[in-house]
Amino acid sequence: MMRISVSSAVKPGTPRYKSVDRYVSFTYPQPGAVEKTFAKPGYVYLSKIGVVNMNAHRPFDPANVTQINVKRYVDGWMINISVKVPDAEAAQTAESAVGIDVGLNTFAALSDETKVDNPRYLRKAEKQLKRKHRQLSRKQPASHNRKKAKRKVAKAHQKVARQRKDFLHKQSHRIVRDYNLIAVEELKVRNMVRNRRLAKSISDAGWSRFITYLSYKAKRQGKRFAQVPAHGTSQTCLCGASVPKTLSIRIHECESCGRIQDRDIVSAKIILQRALNIPA
Ligand SMILES: [Zn+2]
Repeated sequence: MMRISVSSAVKPGTPRYKSVDRYVSFTYPQPGAVEKTFAKPGYVYLSKIGVVNMNAHRPFDPANVTQINVKRYVDGWMINISVKVPDAEAAQTAESAVGIDVGLNTFAALSDETKVDNPRYLRKAEKQLKRKHRQLSRKQPASHNRKKAKRKVAKAHQKVARQRKDFLHKQSHRIVRDYNLIAVEELKVRNMVRNRRLAKSISDAGWSRFITYLSYKAKRQGKRFAQVPAHGTSQTCLCGASVPKTLSIRIHECESCGRIQDRDIVSAKIILQRALNIPA
């Protein structure tokens, strides 16, 4: 099941019938009425309301619409349309599956042999935030300047948080759009945070938030999301051989099968391999 949001501004085409004011939200089961509902491209017909111009945020096939939920807001109407996703589309094959390894060196490595880096603007904003923090700590307690500096820090915090969220949304959206099975490893955040040197980077990277985004976006689009045990994903080869390596060794070199590859990419492939072995 996929949900599509459709909104319309209060403009010509917006219902004017008084009786409708009483409703905040209502649902149209409209069995068999779908043809009439979407007969006019760019518009949606709602019985008792009329023809409303529509701004669909995503393309959809009217033939697969199962339910229409209408909600009234001060500035217009929001219509949530439930669309059945055909089974064929949700089919899971190895080609449409991806394993993701989240790490410290790059934000994420994918089994398709690509990498996602933390964007430069984000690293820059985080640096500025750190500087503002230092400035704040130098101010006299309870002073006017301290108050001012505190406000600056709060603002910078908010900006970084927004940018980080935006980055995570964009990346998770792209991955869920391109793949039908998304596999990640179970994060042992608590264990890693105990190691103080890593703690900051982990919270900065927002991995757990990223995984949450991937998970709910996949669910919303009828795609499969799998979390596999993390044990040994960086110490094994796809052939099954053990390839122990410390954090400083960046290249995976397997003596058994001869695979020589970036260690994070190999980990992503192992994660995918494990997920494909789990029955759906
Ligand atoms: Zn191997």
